[in-house]
Amino acid sequence: MSQVEMYVPLSRPEITDLERAYVLEVLSTPDLSLGPKLAEFEKKLAEYVGARHAIAVNSGTSALHLAIRALGIGEGDEVITTPFSFVASSNCILFERARPVFVDIDPDTLNIDVEAIEAKLSERTKAILAVDLFGHPADWARLRDIADRHRIQLIEDSCEALGAEYRGTQAGTLGDIGAFAFYPNKQITTGEGGAIVTDDPEIAALCRSMRNQGRSIGDEAARHVRLGYNYRISDINCALGLAQLERIDEILMRRTEVAARYRERLDEVNGVEPPGVSPEVKMSWFVYVIRLTGASRRERDRVIDRLESRGISCGHYFQPIHLEPFYRNAFGHREGEFPVTEAMGERTIALPFYNRLTEAEIDYVVEGLREVLTSLR
Ligand SMILES: *Cc1c(COP(=O)(O)O)cnc(C)c1O
Repeated sequence: MSQVEMYVPLSRPEITDLERAYVLEVLSTPDLSLGPKLAEFEKKLAEYVGARHAIAVNSGTSALHLAIRALGIGEGDEVITTPFSFVASSNCILFERARPVFVDIDPDTLNIDVEAIEAKLSERTKAILAVDLFGHPADWARLRDIADRHRIQLIEDSCEALGAEYRGTQAGTLGDIGAFAFYPNKQITTGEGGAIVTDDPEIAALCRSMRNQGRSIGDEAARHVRLGYNYRISDINCALGLAQLERIDEILMRRTEVAARYRERLDEVNGVEPPGVSPEVKMSWFVYVIRLTGASRRERDRVIDRLESRGISCGHYFQPIHLEPFYRNAFGHREGEFPVTEAMGERTIALPFYNRLTEAEIDYVVEGLREVLTSLR
C-alpha cells in the first residue's frame, strides 16, 4: 500500500549562486583563515542581532563551551538547564566539570519551566543556561528576574533561534552571553560553524583569545596567556555565512510561509497538535515539531517508520538528555524525573522542514500523516 511517490528529506540547506560566488571569491585569495571574511561575518552578525560583539567559531558547541569558560564556570559549579534540547547544551557544562541541574519544561512552549527553577537553585548555582527551543525564545523576562535576584548569570543557547524575537529583542541578546550555530539544518549555515554574541568587551576579548590557542590579543609578541583551543572557523565558511546572512529576511519569511501552510493543512488531521507560539514571541522557525495527542512511544515510532517508508523523513526532536545512556550512567538519571520532558520526548515528531519545501511536498507529508494515523487507530 505504501509506495514512495516523493522523497522528502528532513532538512536541506538552500545554496544559491550568491553563496557559490562568495565562496569562490575567497578561494582566489591567500586568506583562507583569520582573514577579512571572518571580521566581516562577525560585524554583520553582530549588527543583525543587535549585539556589540560577535565571535565566530567552528561550531555551536564550541560557542557554548567558550561561553561557559568566559563566565568562569568550573569544577563543582552548577548550571540550571533543560533536559529537552540537543545534547550539546548540556555537554558544554560537563566540558568544564560543572554540573547540569535539569529543570522540567513548560508543556506549551517546550522551553525551561521558569516556575520550577528556584526550587533547584543552590549555593553552587552559577548560571542558568536556557535554550530557545525550535526557534521559540524562552521566557527571558522571568529568567532575568530570577538571575538578578539570585545574582547568577544567564547563558542563552540561541543555536536554533537566529532571527527570533522576545518582546521585540533579538534572540542571542536576551541573556548575558548568547550562542549561535550554523550547521546545515539551521536557519543559516556556514557548513559547520557557530558564534558567541555579547555586549561585554572583556568577554568578547576572552573568547577571541580562547578560540585561537589562548593567544594574547592585539599584542605583536602573541604569547599564549591562557588555555585555549583551535575553535577557528575558516574564511571559506564565513563567506558562505555572509551570503546566507544577506538573504536572511527572505529565508525567514519563506520558513514562516512553510510553517503557516503546515498549520493550515494539519487542521484537517485528527490527533495532531501543531506547535504553539507565545504572544510575546516572534518565532524563527528552525524545525516543525508536531505532537501526537494521546499517543504512546510505540505508536509514535510506528508513525515515523511508516512515514519513512513513504519517503518522508522525520526526526525525534528531542530524546530527553537525562535519559541518554551517558547521562544515565554518569549521573544515575532515570525515567519519571522530568515527566513533561519525557511525555514530549515520546510523542513529538519533527516533520520535513526547509526553505524550499513546496506546497506539493507539504501536502504529500500531511496526506501521508493522515493516512498513517487513520490506519493505526
Ligand atoms: C545545533 C545546536 C547546538 C550546536 O550545534 P553544533 O552542531 O555544534 O553547531 C547547540 N544547541 C542546540 C539547542 C542546537 O540545536
